[in-house]
Amino acid sequence: MGKAVIAGNWKMNGVGAAAEQLACDVRDGAWSLRDRAEIIICPPATVLTRIAKAMEGGPVMVGGQDCHAKVEGAHTGDISAEMLKDAGATHVIVGHSERRTDHGETNAIVEAKARMAMNWGLRPILCIGETLAQREKGRAREIVQDQVFNSIPHEFEEAGGIVAYEPVWAIGTGKTASVEEIAEMHHYIRWLLGNRQMGAVPILYGGSVKPAIAASILAIPEVGGALVGGASLVASDFLAIAAAAPVPAA
Ligand code: PEP
Repeated sequence: MGKAVIAGNWKMNGVGAAAEQLACDVRDGAWSLRDRAEIIICPPATVLTRIAKAMEGGPVMVGGQDCHAKVEGAHTGDISAEMLKDAGATHVIVGHSERRTDHGETNAIVEAKARMAMNWGLRPILCIGETLAQREKGRAREIVQDQVFNSIPHEFEEAGGIVAYEPVWAIGTGKTASVEEIAEMHHYIRWLLGNRQMGAVPILYGGSVKPAIAASILAIPEVGGALVGGASLVASDFLAIAAAAPVPAA
């Protein structure tokens, strides 16, 4: 496997100079991690242009947290893929469970968003994962299979797409899935992606990843990196997670 992809999802956090400072602190620490990690930060849209400018020429890439499925038009408050591109983004998160829940996003909507992102040359970081109720009913694999088959567009691998497996019950809860649970599901997702001729798509793990447990998660076969929420708001924690990634074999 190649370098780990370590992506930070700032969610609805970060304004003005403090947001730029956080990004600059990440950039300063990221220079020495280039051998092991591709680092992406996804700040709120209001500071995206400012942060993308500050990151120019450095080792940190910048992504949006969502984009609309349509090119443009009457969609008050939404952000298009073209706008993200124009602001300097290279990536965009789509299908995050908070979007799926708060905004009723279905697999079909997520697929359309990912396609639009790809049309504009953005690399989608497409989130999948089951809720606690679904896992307790023994439906985790069925849900994930449905998401892999119905929310990932064709030519996702060619467009540099990235999948993030985020069990919903582990997001922002401080509860991390066990190494066995992560290994089992990543192995399954790798198999599903193989069935779709997307065998080389990186699969990130997300859900309360913190520095203390990052090394054990990033060492799991088929874990290609991490999507980090809370810990990405503290530069030293986020960098420590990236530093825990194994250096890829030459
Ligand atoms: C996320 O928002 O994608 C996430 C994984 O959050 P946290 O790390 O806070 O659980």
